[in-house]
Amino acid sequence: MALIELKEVAHAYVARPGGPEDYALKRLDMVWQDGAAYALLGPSGCGKTTTLNIISGLIRPSEGRVLIDHRDVTALAPRDRNVAQVFQFPVIYDTMTVFDNLAFPLRNRKVDRNEIRSRVHEVAEMLELTADLKRRASGLTADVKQKISLGRGLVRKDVAAILFDEPLTVIDPHLKWLLRRKLKQIHQQFSTTLIYVTHDQNEALTFADQVVIMDEGEVLQTGSPRELFENPRHIFVGYFIGSPGMNLMPCRIDGNAAIVEGAPIALGEGIAERGRAAGGELVLGIRPEFLRLKPSAEQGNVPVSVLLAENLGDFKIVTVSLGKLTLKVKVPEDQEVPGEWAYLNFPPEWTKVYADGRLVE
Ligand code: ADP
Ligand code: MG
Repeated sequence: MALIELKEVAHAYVARPGGPEDYALKRLDMVWQDGAAYALLGPSGCGKTTTLNIISGLIRPSEGRVLIDHRDVTALAPRDRNVAQVFQFPVIYDTMTVFDNLAFPLRNRKVDRNEIRSRVHEVAEMLELTADLKRRASGLTADVKQKISLGRGLVRKDVAAILFDEPLTVIDPHLKWLLRRKLKQIHQQFSTTLIYVTHDQNEALTFADQVVIMDEGEVLQTGSPRELFENPRHIFVGYFIGSPGMNLMPCRIDGNAAIVEGAPIALGEGIAERGRAAGGELVLGIRPEFLRLKPSAEQGNVPVSVLLAENLGDFKIVTVSLGKLTLKVKVPEDQEVPGEWAYLNFPPEWTKVYADGRLVE
């Protein structure tokens, strides 16, 4: 188990970074709590692998320090950090058997033979690799190789943390689901600190207690799946999490309301004032789940035209237009959707204002 701290860490792959655009990872202060399961979520190229490699020691950050259990490990090699890492592209010794591949991290650490045998069998059982143990790795399919790679990350009992870099990319959906559940069980059983990198929000939200959202080399928000859903602190988190994502509408402030396409929308206590003070580019955000679609006009509601209603089983997604904007509304499956015109209600507690991308609080 381990507490991992990144203190003012930043990384540039170029030798003499000029502006912020030269940094693959922008200045980051972050604590990964002992025994927690994290998902690191963001689009391709946002800096996830760079962050993991800084923690494991494969990359020495251009700035800042890495602490594991309060010890400065910034200058230590990966093998001296007691951190296991599962790579995005499986690293397998083709000439070895599956057994020997799994045993490798243990033999490296001079673990006793009987202990090796029992650990390898335990991990093989968990990953449904028992039947393949005696086979050479060279002839195996990509998904079996990925399971071996995962097994090598799980085989050591003494690791402080396990880092997974998109470990299930080429595994079929059913097995993916199974393995994710297994990882969760392992986490509950051993309380190892886990950091799981993915670009798939479903994977992140089902796996982790805490989800860390990254974009363009920056950590934008860390929170429980619920916090990220209910209170996105950056517009990127709003549209990246959720399906469909948050509705985002350019707006201006007038009195206590936000004006969107000429329509006034009431805001929560003090938001208009703070939005005005924040300045910059103002955007109103509300999730499709929180908008209310009404058949007739009521005080404060905004008229919209209905473009499309899609029945998706338990719910419907209704597409409406407000001026030149297109919005999505999620309604219960049994709610009648008006054919042409409808009225939107914006509950103020779920109606957020963002100034230059950041939540006005
Ligand atoms: P992710 O894992 O989220 O896809 P990475 O951490 O791999 O993102 O990459 C972050 C940024 O750093 C990208 O712009 C990528 O092109 C760049 N990058 C990654 N590795 C290297 C490298 N070895 N040399 C130069 N640039 C790199
Ligand atoms: Mg990556």
